[in-house]
Amino acid sequence: MLPYFTKHYGNPASRNHYFGWVADEAVEIAREQISALIHASEKEIYFTSGATESNNLALRGVTEMYRNQGNHIVTVVSEHKAVLDTCVDLEQHGCEVTYLSVDRTGLVDPEKVRRAITDKTILVSIMHVNNEIGVIQPIAEIGAICHEQEVLFHVDAAQSAGKLPIDVQKMQIDLLSVSAHKLYGPKGIGALYIRRKQPRVQIKPQITGGGHQKGIRSGTLPVPLIAGLGEACKIAAAEMETEAGRILALRNKLHAGLSAEIPNLVLNGHPCKRLPGNLNLSFAGAEGESLIMGMPDIAVSTGSACTSSVIAPSYVLKALGRTDDQAYSAIRFGIGRFNTDEEIDITIATVVKTVHRLQKLKRK
Ligand SMILES: *Cc1c(COP(=O)(O)O)cnc(C)c1O
Repeated sequence: MLPYFTKHYGNPASRNHYFGWVADEAVEIAREQISALIHASEKEIYFTSGATESNNLALRGVTEMYRNQGNHIVTVVSEHKAVLDTCVDLEQHGCEVTYLSVDRTGLVDPEKVRRAITDKTILVSIMHVNNEIGVIQPIAEIGAICHEQEVLFHVDAAQSAGKLPIDVQKMQIDLLSVSAHKLYGPKGIGALYIRRKQPRVQIKPQITGGGHQKGIRSGTLPVPLIAGLGEACKIAAAEMETEAGRILALRNKLHAGLSAEIPNLVLNGHPCKRLPGNLNLSFAGAEGESLIMGMPDIAVSTGSACTSSVIAPSYVLKALGRTDDQAYSAIRFGIGRFNTDEEIDITIATVVKTVHRLQKLKRK
């Protein structure tokens, strides 16, 4: 990223001089790196400020463009707020939205998606991996249903891109949101994949201006951030398989270590259909916020970072049928590329000590 902040300062939209060409080349390399990660063509990649914007562009852009064909969207109750709040807003502008429920493990049933589709449906939007509980939705099955029913399929892949294999052809995905900072890239940059053929997806631009990116998303491209996103995708593609195995081993060790010392641990989300780096647990008799305050050396969260300003039980955990108490006692452990075996040992010891102390206080 660094040379593009200073040495190669050109604007990729400057077509008439060398500085512009150098910047444009960096952008094109990044486009190839991103498209390679998800098996798309580089012509199908559009840069945005992150997955929040990508989700907005997909939902708003499709519903505005296809308004004459219908006004119905199908999504799921446990989606990220960037999808849910956008849907609520679209409902105020004449759209109808079906919010499908999930089972006790957090999974949506593809047959439910099929039954929800009507002749007014234009879009199905379902996330690949949930950001709180890590469950992996059956995207390929849902994609097949959407294409059979001739309904567009958007996937929020902020949590899965670079962690799990994604193939937009095999999974029959029409639009896909990516965020750089979820795969070790810089914050403030993301991408939206928009299918170019079979079918050719059309989008009503939400940010208009200089006609950048074929008019779909105007604004000067942030070349250093784009170079960072591209490089992050390249590294992820190369490391994904070995990294997933290593992270899964760390998670299993953490889960086993905590289960051995803490009775009545509840795992939130499906036991195996989940992202290797996600472990979401409810600790009976120990409130999540107190637990976090009691172990300042461990960086964990209750719900998601995106909604942690709100003191309310997680709507995702409530959707699994958890009680308020169970939802308030939930902690999300995220294990990533740079975590070590030793850190898992320290985490087990610290969590066990803190939970025991809080449970004892509560019994008094
Ligand atoms: C983080 C996240 C987003 C938002 O991404 P930003 O790039 O931070 O805007 C959207 N969806 C999911 C599932 C996420 O995890």
